[in-house]
Amino acid sequence: MIVSKFGGTSVQNSDAIKQVFSIVASRKEKTFIVVSALSKVTDTLLNLISKIKEKKIDEAEGIVEKIFERHLDVAFELGVSKEIEEYFEKKKQDLIVFAKALGVLGEVTNRSVDYILSIGELLSSNLIYVFLKSKGLKIAYLDPRDIIKTDSNFTCAEVDFPSTKKALTKRFAELSGYDYWVTGGFVGSDGSFDTTTLGRGGSDYSASVIASVLGAKVLEIWTDVDGILTTDPKICPNAMLVKEVSYDEASELATFGAKVLHPKTIYPAVSKRIPVYVLNTFNPSSSGTLISFGSPRKKVVKAIAFRKNIMVVNIKSNRMLGVYGYLAKVFDIFNKFQTSVDLVSTSEVSISLTIDDSKNLNNIVKELSEISTVEILDNCAIVSVIGEGLKDSTTIASRIFNALKNIKIYMVSMGASDINFSFVVRQDELEKTVNLLHNEFFGNSTGLS
Ligand code: ADP
Ligand code: ASP
Ligand code: MG
Repeated sequence: MIVSKFGGTSVQNSDAIKQVFSIVASRKEKTFIVVSALSKVTDTLLNLISKIKEKKIDEAEGIVEKIFERHLDVAFELGVSKEIEEYFEKKKQDLIVFAKALGVLGEVTNRSVDYILSIGELLSSNLIYVFLKSKGLKIAYLDPRDIIKTDSNFTCAEVDFPSTKKALTKRFAELSGYDYWVTGGFVGSDGSFDTTTLGRGGSDYSASVIASVLGAKVLEIWTDVDGILTTDPKICPNAMLVKEVSYDEASELATFGAKVLHPKTIYPAVSKRIPVYVLNTFNPSSSGTLISFGSPRKKVVKAIAFRKNIMVVNIKSNRMLGVYGYLAKVFDIFNKFQTSVDLVSTSEVSISLTIDDSKNLNNIVKELSEISTVEILDNCAIVSVIGEGLKDSTTIASRIFNALKNIKIYMVSMGASDINFSFVVRQDELEKTVNLLHNEFFGNSTGLS
């Protein structure tokens, strides 16, 4: 069995959903399909939540109407409006009642956020189920809340593997006579059956968990580009397909910003040695990228990732010398305010680090200021050069710095592993930085050292 996940753009309209059908129907292999919400629906639901918080109930209702109108239009174009109408109407009424109730106080707990966000995947997966069934596929629907069990950390829940294994295996056994199965990604439920979500982009992770529990032969991540590219084509038009990356390279890329994969995707699949392919729904004959077990080296640098909206925090000890326990004190403060630190570099008396979550920054700065002088540099970006070949390269730093001789670099780190060289630049120089590096490492279209 293959597990195939289709992302938001891959199910964005009726043409895309027909394309999903042609991909899964043209193969002999049984397939478990995991779908995201139609593109931009999760963003729209977040907008709905903002309106509820502002107590703008009429606007909130307008947003709900629009979401359902779009889904009904797609259903109509797919010729299944009759089959799905009732389900959509029920969901719409439930959502309007819920939004109005929350709007009275203008308070939305994370538990309620997850109930609202889950609607995107519930609508898309039911719509796609009804459509694929109408096309004659022997297909079963699985509600994601019945099969993905999580903790109660609403909006970024952790999967509870033993419970998920139990629930999914049981449900799947009941439906074993089918050739296809479909569910919504991103959504799960906790021990009390309250709806949870796995964090933005989490459908990849759902698919990986399902592939791992069911022991799939292959996990396919179908998206809107040909696979993992040398960098994000949205900022570098010359980005090229990378045919094979190692698991380590893929997870570094995901962690350091390549949106094409959710950072957690890799682990459940790797733990079961399941090969993962990243493929293009709109160009299915392209080979895509294989995430393999070996370390296909050849190229020193495989890809360049980046993360925007980063802040650099420069912290200088008041005592002007490295006091025992100072580092621990500093990290305790970040820990206390649940803010994760990405890059770190230290000298005897100062620490520079990056964060991307400024929610608790004021509190953090206040506490840090008791033991240090603190300086914040915002509007920065982390750029990461990634590849297994970095391990043995003696020229990587000089090539990077040489290519970027006119760009100011604020922090440098070998990253969390020896296959990642990361540094910080100002965000307004990000595009230039990535293109210069891309030209350095892939400009001659070989990237060979
Ligand atoms: P989906 O909705 O299918 O999950 P995403 O939007 O989450 O798709 O991810 C696909 C996008 O990731 C691409 O359109 C591309 O802009 C972006 N991306 C960023 N870095 C890379 C990269 N190195 N290779 C491919 N795509 C990348
Ligand atoms: N729909 C969710 C999001 O936009 C999950 C996903 O697409 O993977 O984040
Ligand atoms: Mg995604």
